[in-house]
Amino acid sequence: MTSARPISNARSRASDERGPGSRESVEKFDLIVLGAGPAGIEAALTARSFGMRTLIIDEAPQAGGQYYRAPNLSVQDMPSTPEKREGDRLRVRLAEADVETWFNHRIWSVEPAYRVACATGVHNRLAEAPALIIATGVVEKVRPVPGWTQPGVMGLAAAAIMVKSYKVVPGKRVLLAGSGPLLYDVATKICAAGGEIAALVDAVPMATWMRQTPRLARKPKLLAKGLAWMAYLRARGVKIYRSHALCEVLGDGEANGAMIRKVDQDWYPVEGSEAIKIDCDTVCYGYGLQPGLDMSRLLGAEHVYKRSRGGWTLKTDRFLRTSLRKVYAAGDVAGAFGIDLAGLRGRLAAYTAAMDCRFIEPKRFRLEARPLKDSLPHSASFGRAVNRLSMPRRGLVAFITPETTICRCESITRAKLELAIEQGAHSLTTLRSATRCGMGPCGGRYCLSAASTIIREELEIEFGDIGIVKGRSPLRPVHIRTFTQDFSYGDLPSRRPPPL
Ligand SMILES: Cc1cc2nc3c(=O)[nH]c(=O)nc-3n(C[C@H](O)[C@H](O)[C@H](O)COP(=O)(O)OP(=O)(O)OC[C@H]3O[C@@H](n4cnc5c(N)ncnc54)[C@H](O)[C@@H]3O)c2cc1C
Repeated sequence: MTSARPISNARSRASDERGPGSRESVEKFDLIVLGAGPAGIEAALTARSFGMRTLIIDEAPQAGGQYYRAPNLSVQDMPSTPEKREGDRLRVRLAEADVETWFNHRIWSVEPAYRVACATGVHNRLAEAPALIIATGVVEKVRPVPGWTQPGVMGLAAAAIMVKSYKVVPGKRVLLAGSGPLLYDVATKICAAGGEIAALVDAVPMATWMRQTPRLARKPKLLAKGLAWMAYLRARGVKIYRSHALCEVLGDGEANGAMIRKVDQDWYPVEGSEAIKIDCDTVCYGYGLQPGLDMSRLLGAEHVYKRSRGGWTLKTDRFLRTSLRKVYAAGDVAGAFGIDLAGLRGRLAAYTAAMDCRFIEPKRFRLEARPLKDSLPHSASFGRAVNRLSMPRRGLVAFITPETTICRCESITRAKLELAIEQGAHSLTTLRSATRCGMGPCGGRYCLSAASTIIREELEIEFGDIGIVKGRSPLRPVHIRTFTQDFSYGDLPSRRPPPL
């Protein structure tokens, strides 16, 4: 089989075109892949094999994404796990391919047509291509509780990164709370790295776990992995509280304990149940993963709300085309279905991009891409079951007191949000405008889904009706020198003051 165009060197032709307000040249490609997790890597390798000059960008120092995250280069004696070995294989394949890689590049803006701006250190770098594959993965769902903004509290993914990349346990005595398999995965990692687990608090009742077992069993290896985590923790005497949720982090400027409470089917506190105090110096918690939609929101793509996909997700057709011309979604950004599907969806997105951009013939696309597409629904059922287990239920909102901070960047409490809702802010967009919730450096990645739960509770409407907000650049905090470079006021031509 031949590609429709000859393979050219992946290195871009730097154009002398200047970006608005910038002094950098724009590097041109046939395709830019945003994110170098398993989906992005497979997408870039596949596109390159069709002759597309391909650029892949990631803010991490090496490829791998969340699951195959490479150990930090300063850590010498990282144990060789199956994840590390598979990640190393992917990194070698990418290094050997003629794909342009920009690591340590934080994407802070994406403009139509499509121009991508990245910050690397204090430098700005621009790339342009007629087609984009968004493969920026997931963010975790954290629900506020009193005391959650103190040092010593972090998300489960953050704890996983500390152990995986830096071989550091998050604290001396760690409480883990939340829902879904990630809870057990992170607890096992901390335990295996020598950390002490104060308790594991799982909001999901055993009956719900059992109900999802037939779906989970469609991936016997993954189910066995999950059961092995549970057995490992039990064997080490870790106390597991099922049908309980974190309701408060104690401490006066630093976490020094936590309160948990028994919850019902919808995770509301069981009436009359006593809160239990857990002695710990660190709390790691989270309620599953949701697609990270910064880039697609900024570009104005269409999104849909689907619980089984982890919440709001990019709307795509069966071949992973988004609503925007020549923008494709790969991996968890098109529904948090897990590692098993990430690479497959990366390849499918690259096939579709290559056909739309006339790098492969429709006949080849039909022969090779359709089987990939047809295998997706079966493989997705495991991911759906995990999302059903992990999705935060309504009752968690009962633990958010009026004084609890929802948006930590802008110090917005639940009481402030409720006042704005009472005054007519009935969508996420109007709530953001009325209160500045989600307008800080994190761009609303953590607080806006919690703010949605407050609207839902107050107005009894569904997430689909509450909506999603338009993205704004910069997507991530960027150093001011990225824009000003070595500009100095002293360089301005000075003029004599006019005579009086
Ligand atoms: C802690 C943790 C544990 C997990 N454990 C499991 C598990 O056991 N089994 C399982 O099936 N799944 C697991 N998952 C989910 C799994 O990580 C994903 O399914 C998989 O990594 C998805 O691949 P992806 O390529 O779509 O995204 P990712 O692997 O998340 O890659 C996305 C990449 O985009 C980059 N990126 C995002 N925004 C920007 C930006 N603005 N600028 C530059 N780069 C950016 C990120 O740095 C990242 O490298 C876990 C996830 C987490 C967070």
